[in-house]
Amino acid sequence: MLSRVTADIDSVLLGAGELVVDLGALAANYATLQRLQPQARVAGVVKADAYGLGAREVATTLYKAGARDFFVAHLVEALDLRRILPREASLYVLNGLAPGAEAVAADAGIVPVLNGLDQVLRWSAECTLRGQRLAAAVQVDSGMTRLGLARAEVDILTADPGILAAIDVVLVMSHLACADEPNSPANAAQFAEFCALTERLPPAPRALGNSGAAFLNGFGFDLIRPGLALYGVHPVSDKGSPLKPVVTLRAPVVQLRDVPAGVGVGYGLTHTTEGVRRLATVAVGYADGWPRALSNRGAMVFDGVRLPIVGRVSMDSTIIDVTALPDGALKPGDMVELVGPHQSLADVARDAGTIPYEILTGLGHRFARRYETA
Ligand SMILES: *Cc1c(COP(=O)(O)O)cnc(C)c1O
Repeated sequence: MLSRVTADIDSVLLGAGELVVDLGALAANYATLQRLQPQARVAGVVKADAYGLGAREVATTLYKAGARDFFVAHLVEALDLRRILPREASLYVLNGLAPGAEAVAADAGIVPVLNGLDQVLRWSAECTLRGQRLAAAVQVDSGMTRLGLARAEVDILTADPGILAAIDVVLVMSHLACADEPNSPANAAQFAEFCALTERLPPAPRALGNSGAAFLNGFGFDLIRPGLALYGVHPVSDKGSPLKPVVTLRAPVVQLRDVPAGVGVGYGLTHTTEGVRRLATVAVGYADGWPRALSNRGAMVFDGVRLPIVGRVSMDSTIIDVTALPDGALKPGDMVELVGPHQSLADVARDAGTIPYEILTGLGHRFARRYETA
């Protein structure tokens, strides 16, 4: 990756933007979530390369902060982290146990999340074959209808306890559909269904929620699975959030131009200047995950001044109106803020009509990644 090859060269010279990940803030957010749910283990959800921030760096930091449970989506993600995390770390695969993956997962000591009866049966068979009770998490569907054992499948396991007896069930879990809507009646309904289903399974630590659940009273159970909150974004609202921002995103100005009224700007000439303006072209575009939906919407920031995006976002560049800045304040090579103290990930997501998850996980590989420790 670009960042690994060129870590020592100033990113401005390279033309790329920079993505700064504050690992100190990440560790502080871990501690904050632990304070919110003191009875629970706090896991780290590090799927999708830790939401684009670097799974290895993030997982290593969380391990030092005390995390021993790490969730990824795919087996391949777990195998990569298995190489760098100590044995004490458990790696869970949320998308479950693919047919044929049993031996690979078992050999590597990965903990599959068993999402259906077929997966339970295949893992149980692997345990019997090896004469070993291998660890697994069992997920029940408490009402989201995405992953997990349906009620009828739980009935089968209740009627035939021998199936699960072969497995070391280290966690029973489910997932909330509306954790970021604290007043949704779906939360209480899923809570009740989760309790009813888990009562009929062998006793094991229980986990129901993600970041949203960490902020809901009583939903923490024995383990919480935050992702987004660790990365500094409050699941409901940034107002009064106890979480520290983890991500700063900047990109350099490539060129400045002064234009008269009535000129068209960018692909399709979708913006026309209404007066004499100063425009700046910034080296970030949709190839970097800077959404094309921000065309003629949203802004960047320099010296605390909001500078609106004008025209369409291109593949490698975006034009902003910098007329509000004093003459000479902004020069080619200067970095403007895309995400930082004046503009949060949630702000960018709102302007782009999406969610912070999609902005984070979509950030491209051209940013120079810098990791700051406290
Ligand atoms: C992605 C995911 C999480 C983490 O969700 P956040 O909203 O980022 O906290 C937790 N649990 C499951 C099952 C997930 O898929």
